[in-house]
Amino acid sequence: MKKVHLEKLICVECRSKDLALPIILSQERDEIIEGIIECASCSIRYPIIEGIACFLRPQLRTSEIQAYLAKIPPVTTNIEI
Ligand SMILES: [Zn+2]
Repeated sequence: MKKVHLEKLICVECRSKDLALPIILSQERDEIIEGIIECASCSIRYPIIEGIACFLRPQLRTSEIQAYLAKIPPVTTNIEI
């Protein structure tokens, strides 16, 4: 997923356009490979896995997605690894 696409997305839970990329774990040029998108309005996190943003409501997420999110700590400021 490219960073520029973030402004075109909305939160599927609360419909807010106020999304941020607080965690980028892996990046190739302008393509985010692994990371987290977070809604500033309702605080739901959406993972980016293998370059794909997984915009699923929490109740629709697979155990694989839940496990991915569980291993990433909460953050209050932007970090890049
Ligand atoms: Zn939201």
